[in-house]
Amino acid sequence: MMNLKMRMKTYRPNFKLAEEKAIEFIGYLDKKELPIKLMKFKKVFNNLEIKTYSWYSKKMGLSIEKVCEDLGSEDGCCVYNDLNGKYRIYYNDTIENEGRKRWTLAHELGHYALKHHEMYGQNIMQRNSISNENYEAFEKEANCFARNLIAPPHVIFHFEEKDPSIIEHICKVSSEAAQNIFRFLYKGVREYGIGYSKDYAEKLGFKDFIHQVNNRYFCKNCRVHYTIEKPSYCSCCGNKALTKTIYKFGDEFEMKYPAVVVVDFNGRAKSCPCCQNEELDYEGNYCNVCSTYLVNECADVYDDNPFGDQGILVESCGTKLSGNARYCHKCGNPSRFMNAGHLKAWNYTPIEIDELDEIPF
Ligand SMILES: [Zn+2]
Ligand SMILES: [Zn+2]
Ligand SMILES: [Zn+2]
Ligand SMILES: [Zn+2]
Repeated sequence: MMNLKMRMKTYRPNFKLAEEKAIEFIGYLDKKELPIKLMKFKKVFNNLEIKTYSWYSKKMGLSIEKVCEDLGSEDGCCVYNDLNGKYRIYYNDTIENEGRKRWTLAHELGHYALKHHEMYGQNIMQRNSISNENYEAFEKEANCFARNLIAPPHVIFHFEEKDPSIIEHICKVSSEAAQNIFRFLYKGVREYGIGYSKDYAEKLGFKDFIHQVNNRYFCKNCRVHYTIEKPSYCSCCGNKALTKTIYKFGDEFEMKYPAVVVVDFNGRAKSCPCCQNEELDYEGNYCNVCSTYLVNECADVYDDNPFGDQGILVESCGTKLSGNARYCHKCGNPSRFMNAGHLKAWNYTPIEIDELDEIPF
């Protein structure tokens, strides 16, 4: 299947196309978040398979070294079958560096996305099978695709913390790749005036994700991760020392404390936390059955008064809170839901029945 016409021309890498293809591929994924789940592309395209070197070694009865030799690469390759139009990507799963494996996969996906095999009439892209110049051009294009897929600049530009290590952890690339990505991004911004608008990132579906990355905190006291804008206090335990942390998908499950009341955008419970009434009035902040106050917000508190019995009133700051906030993240006062007992204190443990037996009466 030699395409002689293509063979004579020197190919010039089309970086714009590579970028556009990467954006198109991200669009195929259901969840708009990083790290990009590269294996999902197997399910997106029915003419694409992804196999490991281990699989190939077992099937052919070859050592991994021999597989590398056979496939012409230590990392991976993409093979095109012109008889049925199918592609198969092989990647070396025995390499320990997770970031490097991901890069290989994304790079090979680039050859697939950009149809290099079809353009050049090759079943496998190997250095010696096409002219050096053209080989390098295709490699550059595939790398450009990989970079834009794994670390989409339209998204990572909006991380508030500007540091390669953030890219390394969030995009799951090697630290070397993260540094290159970082340098490349800001060189483009500084020297070529390339801009990335937040609107566009949102259009791509990354609004929530960017918000998560920029507002992720961790409380060392109660060990909860959460997303909240500029908190001064932990909304779970009231602790003052919060640390900014890197958002990892799945973090929210670490919020393991019981009794979360589901609230709407105005902090109003969707069903009554006291009598469980689900048919609440559309307006009004009290349950129409049991009169319980339905909004979780910052509550007044009486602080200890060293000079007398009467506590000192510390007024509520009026902030509306999430359904699991025990404390106001702005001023540290307890929440309405905690005061009313709808939420138990973060370190509350119910007394077990047999423990009760042991209490001497
Ligand atoms: Zn390549
Ligand atoms: Zn806490
Ligand atoms: Zn009620
Ligand atoms: Zn408050």
